[in-house]
Order: sequence, then structure tokens, then C-alpha cells
Amino acid sequence: MKTLQVSVVTPDGPVYDADAQMVSTKAQSGDLGVLPGHIPMVAPLEIGSVRVKKDGSTEFIAVSGGLLEVRPDKVTILAQSAEKADNIDLARAKAAAARAEKRLQDKSDHVDARRAELSLRRAINRISLAEKK
Ligand code: ATP
Repeated sequence: MKTLQVSVVTPDGPVYDADAQMVSTKAQSGDLGVLPGHIPMVAPLEIGSVRVKKDGSTEFIAVSGGLLEVRPDKVTILAQSAEKADNIDLARAKAAAARAEKRLQDKSDHVDARRAELSLRRAINRISLAEKK
């Protein structure tokens, strides 16, 4: 069976490498599934999960947005941060969500609402993947 080489890379180094049958993720233009032989493309990603189908099982990686590069035999995801589902610290993500929610409720001028919203979305994404385990 044909496979795709999947790599998820962050500024801190590689987070995930595997040979997979399929990769699904959430691009800004919508959900995207990539099979071996896909036409080359580049797409910006949302904060979301990357699902990798491999040998009959599915692995999940949380990504904080980034860029997806597809070649017929390879998918590379460059993200500011990414964690394999098993490596997500659920308590940390819950604490980050609570902090971000508190900031969003604070209507004073010094709060950067966009930044708090992105932090909340990253935390919710991590929580949903960690709770899937
Ligand atoms: P926090 O406020 O908890 O740092 P954050 O969303 O600001 O969350 P990021 O800036 O996205 O964190 O990531 C900083 C680093 O910490 C990255 O290496 C990321 O993979 C890691 N990280 C963040 N949250 C978690 C978590 N809940 N579990 C494991 N690693 C995490």
C-alpha cells in the first residue's frame, strides 16, 4: 500500500514523523484530507488537530495553526507549536483556558482580546485532544 511521509515541525524541532496512509487536517479553506499522490499544494492551517491514519490506527496531533505543504509522497506541517495527543498536559491546558477566559471577560483597555481569544482556542484544542485519549 502506498504511503505518505508525514512530518510536523516547530521552532523547537520535529514533533512527529511517520509513514501514513492518510492525513486529515483543518485548513483555513476547510477540512482537508491528503492521500498518497496528492497534487502539490501549500495551505494555511487553523488551530486544530492533525489526524494521521497509519497501520489501521489513527494518531492525533494538536497544532496551533501554521502551514501545510503537500507533495505526492510527503506532507510537512510547519507550526509555531504542536503536541502529540499523548504529550498534552491537560491540567496546563485547562489552566491556560481559564486564564484566557478571565482575560476575555476583563473589558479594560490593556487586554489584548485577539491574543486572549487565540490562547483560548489553542487551549480548547489541546483539551479536546487530551480528553480523546
Ligand atoms: P501556555 O499558556 O500553557 O504556555 P500557550 O498556548 O501559550 O499555553 P504555546 O505558546 O502555544 O503555549 O506553546 C509554548 C510551548 O509549550 C510549545 O512548545 C507547546 O508545544 C508547549 N505547550 C503548551 N501548552 C501545552 C500543553 N497543555 N501540553 C503540552 N505542551 C504544551
